[in-house]
Amino acid sequence: MKFHVITFGCQMNAGDSDWLSRSLTAKGLTPAPEGEADLYIVNTCSVREKPELKVYSVLGRLAEYAAEKPGLFIAVGGCVAQQVGTTLWRRFPLVRLVFGADGLAAAPQAILRLINEPKLRISLLDFFDAYPERDPAWPEATVPAQAFVTIMQGCDNFCAYCIVPFVRGRQKSRKSDDVIAECRDLAARGAREITLLGQNVNSFGLDTAGDGTSFATLLRRAAAVDGIKRLRFTTSHPKDLSPEVIAAFADLPELCPSLHLPVQSGADAVLSRMGRRYDAARYLHLVEGLTKARPDISLSTDIIVGFPGETEEDFCKTLELVRTVGFESAFSFMYCDRPGVAAQSFEPKIPLEIKAERLARLQALLDDLQTAGLSRRVGTRTEVLVEGASRRPKPGQPSWRGRDPGGRVVDFTYAGPDDPTGTFVPVEILEAKKHSLRGKAV
Ligand code: SF4
Repeated sequence: MKFHVITFGCQMNAGDSDWLSRSLTAKGLTPAPEGEADLYIVNTCSVREKPELKVYSVLGRLAEYAAEKPGLFIAVGGCVAQQVGTTLWRRFPLVRLVFGADGLAAAPQAILRLINEPKLRISLLDFFDAYPERDPAWPEATVPAQAFVTIMQGCDNFCAYCIVPFVRGRQKSRKSDDVIAECRDLAARGAREITLLGQNVNSFGLDTAGDGTSFATLLRRAAAVDGIKRLRFTTSHPKDLSPEVIAAFADLPELCPSLHLPVQSGADAVLSRMGRRYDAARYLHLVEGLTKARPDISLSTDIIVGFPGETEEDFCKTLELVRTVGFESAFSFMYCDRPGVAAQSFEPKIPLEIKAERLARLQALLDDLQTAGLSRRVGTRTEVLVEGASRRPKPGQPSWRGRDPGGRVVDFTYAGPDDPTGTFVPVEILEAKKHSLRGKAV
């Protein structure tokens, strides 16, 4: 049977889809392009606006393939599946499996049952107290040089605007030995860079499912795994970023000098209403510690503009904080009510035109900062972990694309005889583009 996975949302969803594809392949199914599959898996996200509508439109599109593929069926996973549940299959009869974050581990087995029992429908929407371990599914002997390892599921923070704790459940850490065993396995199969994933990795191990190992200790153990040359993690909550994790940036050469640290706003009043439990001064203090530990650290962030009650003065404080930190990149969004979250009832709502105008001002500043950050790299040498052929090749020259330790995209020319994908190549940076760097192998 041929399958095709469609993924919306964050890196955690991408990591989940990746595992699901490997697991199905290991069970004898074959990945296929859209239009050629007998089974479609839609891994959904409800963090942004109108996710349900987006999913319905994809399901409508997939249903059109059924005329030529008798027996075609669809599995819907992730946050929208958790929210909407089995009403999905009432509306879309081709949907025969719905699974939430905790149901993912059992999804491949459920799919095998559905293949054998064409009248069956299965719902995997329960939350569990412990992290449901997944089969270590690697159908191939080798893995890509960059790999993701999920270290926890869910979140306990209930920020006023966020749906995650409702759709991914409460925080559940994996046992540290299981995480390290997966890192060792990946390194033995060729992974050189590992990104540890979780909704709030800084509080890893401190929930009832965890084994008490702190995130800083986990980082040190992962960095010590033979073969791991680069270590990254995402996402962090500033309130839980400990001095020990900051110290790890100074002590562990494997820990890349890049950190995504969502600030959301620079105004204390807004941060307080968001329930973020830090203020701008605390955030700036963390940034000071991080830049002291790793002067070359590249910081990125998330920012919401137009949270209910945000004044022009509040917004200017956000601009000021962004300027002070000098983020190299950021995801910035207009606040939008999500059903079921606390902020839905917060007033006053900010009119759309004011939110749009603020977002445009913020994004202009972020663009300038990104340009300045990339320009500072021109003339330096760096090491690029190659991901594959460049999407913007220079005419007549073999060009490759990868990332430097700061996570910046680098396109570079390389005259070597072999495909360097998966290796580290020293590169001299010659030019800064809008969102990436260009250079040549040296
Ligand atoms: S920390 Fe806040 S924003 Fe992040 S997932 Fe948890 S509730 Fe959502």
